[in-house]
Amino acid sequence: MVRGEQAVDQDRIIYLDNNATTMVAPEVLGAMQPFFCERYGNASSMHRFGGDVRHDIDEARANVAHLIGATPEEIVFTSCGTESDNTAVVGTLRANPDKRHIVTSKVEHPAIRGLCQYLTRERYEVTEVPVNRQGELDLDFLADSIRPDTALVSVMWANNETGVIFPVGEVAEIAHANGVVFHTDAVQAVGRIPINLAETPVDLLSLSGHKIHAPKGIGVLYVRRGTKFAPFIIGGHQERNRRGGTENTASIVGLGKAAELAAERIVDENTRVKTLRDTLEERILASAPDCFVNGARDERLPNTSNISFEYVEGEAILLKLDQLGVCASSGSACTSGSLEPSHVMRAMGVPFTAAHGSIRFSLSVYNTEEEISFVADHVPDIITELRAISPYGRK
Ligand code: PLP
Repeated sequence: MVRGEQAVDQDRIIYLDNNATTMVAPEVLGAMQPFFCERYGNASSMHRFGGDVRHDIDEARANVAHLIGATPEEIVFTSCGTESDNTAVVGTLRANPDKRHIVTSKVEHPAIRGLCQYLTRERYEVTEVPVNRQGELDLDFLADSIRPDTALVSVMWANNETGVIFPVGEVAEIAHANGVVFHTDAVQAVGRIPINLAETPVDLLSLSGHKIHAPKGIGVLYVRRGTKFAPFIIGGHQERNRRGGTENTASIVGLGKAAELAAERIVDENTRVKTLRDTLEERILASAPDCFVNGARDERLPNTSNISFEYVEGEAILLKLDQLGVCASSGSACTSGSLEPSHVMRAMGVPFTAAHGSIRFSLSVYNTEEEISFVADHVPDIITELRAISPYGRK
């Protein structure tokens, strides 16, 4: 395909959808490979062939613990971020059977929000704390929502759609001042911003491998020592009786390697990647009229930019980007034929026309200056072209 004078390489993918999932790092794949056909023993076996694998799992546990400032005993391997989130909520409710109230936010991922909505049908009560136009949490509302029967406060560390970072340290203190357990869904935050649980008094934290260049299907629930918690998946004695099921050794080892890499790359993420993100954002805002960034600009993940383009549909922009090999996401969910703005955009009060035209670009350490330049060159043309045929009024 030729756009103007510029030939577009049909095979090239520019991947700017890293909040959806990330590429498995080659180092991670290399670390995992021996655990399929060579070192495939069960870590719980009495024989050395299996038992030796336990050391690799322990090493991975130590690497994950190091990345978030935890101790290895506080790390429970799960199958994904969703399982970690479900385990945190259900495990806390099971451990506190007299308490039937949960405080959470209006902008949580469905792994928390969907579960909480389900629990209301099981006669639990849920309070969703609102956010403002910048996507920032209303801390006074949160503090006022806590009741004597509140079992848990669960608030995400960083939002997957906007990248907005919540002050989880403060939220943890509010929860603790009221004697309530605090969980944070840190699936988007881990590996992207420094996290030190030795200093931030979180009780439970969820993370997911596939957001930090490990494979899909592996996650972690951090459980602070002393936290009252009952297992969600009940079976064997794995993970110190906190999560039954034979260990997914290859993926655990992969996650350990990914955690090691993330700890090394966190500076690059917060300098070079952040600069790439800022450049992309500034160039788009400067060259396309009627567009703006959704979410607080400062307290934000360094890799995420969510931009609303008025008078255009996000899906149309995505299709045009896709034709150029550029992968991004939109802020509306195409369900049952209707394009509904996401619950995050609605909670922030983003006007319908702007929410409809919102695009999330999410970068990783693998993106280059040249890729960002290519995208910044093409987005304004795409917007002009689509506005010329827009059904939303302005041409
Ligand atoms: N929480 C957040 C904030 C997420 O962004 C995601 C995935 O997109 C999840 C939880 C679910 O993680 P997983 O895909 O590992 O189940």
